[in-house]
Amino acid sequence: MKKSNNDLALRSRREFLHDLAWASAALATTRLHGQTKPLERKLGIALLGLGGYASGELGPALRETKNCYLAGVVTGHPEKGERWAAEYNLNKKNIYNYENFDQIADNRDIDIVYVVTPPALHPEFSIRAAKAGKHVISEKPMATSVADCERMVAACKAAKVKLAIGYRLHFDLYHRELMRHAQEQDFGPFMNMNGAFSFVFGPRAWRLDKKLAGGGPLMDVGIYVLHGACMAANGVAPIAVTAHEEPKTKPELFNEVEETIRWTMEFPNGAHCEGLTSYNQSGNHLRVEGAKGWMDFQPAFSYSGIACQTSRGPLNLSSINQQAAHMDDFADCIRTGRDTSVPGELGRRDMQIITAIYEAARTGKRVQV
Ligand code: NAD
Repeated sequence: MKKSNNDLALRSRREFLHDLAWASAALATTRLHGQTKPLERKLGIALLGLGGYASGELGPALRETKNCYLAGVVTGHPEKGERWAAEYNLNKKNIYNYENFDQIADNRDIDIVYVVTPPALHPEFSIRAAKAGKHVISEKPMATSVADCERMVAACKAAKVKLAIGYRLHFDLYHRELMRHAQEQDFGPFMNMNGAFSFVFGPRAWRLDKKLAGGGPLMDVGIYVLHGACMAANGVAPIAVTAHEEPKTKPELFNEVEETIRWTMEFPNGAHCEGLTSYNQSGNHLRVEGAKGWMDFQPAFSYSGIACQTSRGPLNLSSINQQAAHMDDFADCIRTGRDTSVPGELGRRDMQIITAIYEAARTGKRVQV
């Protein structure tokens, strides 16, 4: 039955997008597990690493998803596996530990493994998941070196599985609006940008361990600022960076990683972005200015409650579950065969930028990306 304009107006934009995705999935004929058949079932996700982000955000989001559901978990703590199985009604055979995880290859309930461990472990688990024939989502930052990002991309290509990075903001309606303006340039190209994402450090031990985290706040949350600037540059990467690490106020805590770092990104068209990230202050904003207008996001990078003023007035968009939208989109990519908008190559690009920022801070020189 045809819907009237009024009916459509009453539906949230997200529901509408979801329905479109479902319709295209139902029509599509695609390949999974080597078979060609229409895929209408929900895809099964296994979360690997049941820490704060998996428990607080991804598990709950998987109660809202339409194209996928929580089918299993991989954990180093058997009691956590039991707890999750009870809470999410999981089949006990779908609980794995880090040792027997490779047997997931034989489990047809699981289509996607979502790696939610400290960054240094993303490559090992992503590559094992790919070798087991599972599609992969890796949390950000993708890894702790560009070489590891490349290994992940290559492994997923070799296994013919898809790889996405946990860039949830690509699915947020405010950030989609930023991307639209960047593409259409109705404010002109965004030439002056600045942003910060910082918080006062709590007791999260691996984030201070350089081997596991790869670095400090730049790897953890500064990545949102540089990623947002690339969005505002219409997906173009910077050509060079300069950077400065501020003196540590708590050297006993930050003896392996930076406490606060500032940097400047230079884009090929002459645009600049000034970035700041810290584990010793609060900050959460992004401002982008073109010759014909500006956008100011504050808070800019949160799970919900993002707000944006523009030179034309405030944006009033609905707040969606970013994680659910991301996982649903990835499941739809698998079912229909289209590419994800947040592939491993994007994670590798950000790792190249981060590496250049660290080198610029260390040497005091302008470093080409
Ligand atoms: P966390 O410390 O709360 O959880 C980490 C999980 O990894 C735990 O379950 C832990 O048991 C497991 N783990 C396995 N091996 C480990 C080891 N050797 N050392 C420490 N932990 C080990 O961390 P988190 O905040 O959930 O972050 C996990 C990942 O998710 C990180 O990559 C982080 O950057 C990312 N993250 C992303 C977002 C986002 O908005 N996209 C938000 C928070 C965290």
